[in-house]
Amino acid sequence: MKKPLILIFGSNDNGRLMLRRNYSDSVTGAGGIPLAVPFGIDEDGLKQLADTADGFLFAGGVDIDPSYYGETVLNDTVEIDPIRDSHEAIAVSLALASGKPVLGICRGIQSVNVFSGGSLYQDIPSQINTAIKHRQTESAEIGTHKVTTEPDSLIRSIAGESTFTNSFHHQGVKVPSPLFRVTARAEDGMIEAMEGTGDQYVLLVQWHPEFTSGTNEVSRGIFASFVDACKRLHV
Ligand code: MN
Repeated sequence: MKKPLILIFGSNDNGRLMLRRNYSDSVTGAGGIPLAVPFGIDEDGLKQLADTADGFLFAGGVDIDPSYYGETVLNDTVEIDPIRDSHEAIAVSLALASGKPVLGICRGIQSVNVFSGGSLYQDIPSQINTAIKHRQTESAEIGTHKVTTEPDSLIRSIAGESTFTNSFHHQGVKVPSPLFRVTARAEDGMIEAMEGTGDQYVLLVQWHPEFTSGTNEVSRGIFASFVDACKRLHV
């Protein structure tokens, strides 16, 4: 059987397409073929790629321009990349229109949320009074804050009632897109996972399971669930 082809949307690093190896390794490890999508492909080209692919993974990275959700830049912690934003605005639309599985990680949950009508906290430390360190100083292999899942959700089926995740974000979902359901939160109420409500497989997590997909059962389960969903549509 042919393996599902999964498009990964990474970072624009001073003219280089940048994607940490653990994203692609996590997809490979779950039985998919990862393909990092370069910048500079126009909408028709992205549409053709989307038609060919079996799934979409939106990876971590810098912040989304708040003008996409009707705000101005809050402070100098907000780091924007217009090239990535315009590329992902198209890619998210195509992904959601495709009916094919979508996995969003860190910036990925934010990107899919914003480009489908949601908004973000631009800077958690200055906008929310919380004792939780959403930008941990511990290594990425260590889960540092608790995440509690909602009943009857995909993430509940993968992670159980609660799990400890790593956390490397200074932004977070403020208003969820109407397309999605919030399915996990940190103990301060921060949205940590969202999911689709219809037939399309959409799983969005604020943390970084790609660092531990080889060692942690929840992280492995996230990629297995996503790639299995891609396989089901791949004929
Ligand atoms: Mn967090």
